[in-house]
Amino acid sequence: MKDETRLTRLGRPHDARGLVNPGVERGSTILAPSAAQLYDFPPGMPHYGRVGLETQSALREALSGLQGGAGCALTSSGLLANTLAIMTVVEAGGSVLAADCIYGPVRSFLLNTLPRFGVTAQFFAPRMGAEIGDLITSDTQAILLESPGSLTMELQDIPAITKVARDKGVATIIDDTWSAGLTMKPLALGVDLAAQSLTKYVGGHSDLLMGAVIARDEAMAQRLQTTECAFGIHTAPDDAYLALRGFRSMALRMQRSEATSLVLADWLATRPEVGAIRHPVRTDHPDHAIFKRDFTGGCGLFAVEMPGWDVAMSERFLDALDIFGLGFSWGGYESLAIHCDPQLRRSATAHKHEGALIRFSCGLEAPEDLIADMEKGFAALG
Ligand SMILES: *Cc1c(COP(=O)(O)O)cnc(C)c1O
Repeated sequence: MKDETRLTRLGRPHDARGLVNPGVERGSTILAPSAAQLYDFPPGMPHYGRVGLETQSALREALSGLQGGAGCALTSSGLLANTLAIMTVVEAGGSVLAADCIYGPVRSFLLNTLPRFGVTAQFFAPRMGAEIGDLITSDTQAILLESPGSLTMELQDIPAITKVARDKGVATIIDDTWSAGLTMKPLALGVDLAAQSLTKYVGGHSDLLMGAVIARDEAMAQRLQTTECAFGIHTAPDDAYLALRGFRSMALRMQRSEATSLVLADWLATRPEVGAIRHPVRTDHPDHAIFKRDFTGGCGLFAVEMPGWDVAMSERFLDALDIFGLGFSWGGYESLAIHCDPQLRRSATAHKHEGALIRFSCGLEAPEDLIADMEKGFAALG
């Protein structure tokens, strides 16, 4: 079955009542049928609500099913999905190799929190492939990818990296929010743990914060679940329900956002103010060949270089926009824009661009209206 069909079928109830959707099941206590069974719950039955009931199970099944995973942990945010994935595979004395383009708060976790537990981090150039083998040492326990990086849009050669990592016994983790596990299948490309923010395209309506980690094989799924339980991670059934609702329509929304983003990018390319356009779906993206090989589609998130712009000019452009909201997150029904430069952090490589980097997340509005909005932004520069 194609993914579009699977999105409508995964995580549906199995019982005889015929309801199309799972219930929003609330509960902490689950009564045991007898005292003897208090400590001997039937296998596979939840014995306490923290592990999640019908709604969370349905969402886990849907997310894991879409990627062909062996198990899935739900988290209260995408950030926690990333940190949980990392904590699943590291031990004191180890080190993590991370793509230099990873999400800022994950970078902070690696630099500020992990060292307290005896784990260090090193960053690598985000457009890397098999050469990563040269950076792996006997201490390396995990390689952390984000492809494309959600600000700079650089791609890693995932199959090349996972092959080297596997040969050297190093776990691989990806922050796969951009593809949502739909337009790219990280586990099939050899990644051990795929973390994503469900806040973005899965939620899709800017009303939900949630994340998920999906494990490639049984052994990794077991380690993930042990770590999830150790931390006492729980997600609310109402939130799981919203994520599952968004899951049903995400292919359509991503396709529409992508189509709009390509119209906007084409228009932007005609503007004298605009430099390089960083959109992996466009043939002028430096990593487009990798995109074509590993992805079946894109989404509405892309960035544009504005040569010669300083922060004040970026602010003038952004402040003149009405339809594009100015705010963090992306993948919602409404379009957003930010300037990236104040949050770009690199250690392995400088991110070379002239002027400002402006990022757009295209929502579901008509492209003509978004273009008219951008025209106002450029007009404000005088
Ligand atoms: C938004 C985002 C996150 C964090 O997700 P939250 O659900 O907001 O915690 C992590 N990684 C990427 C690439 C993101 O865009």
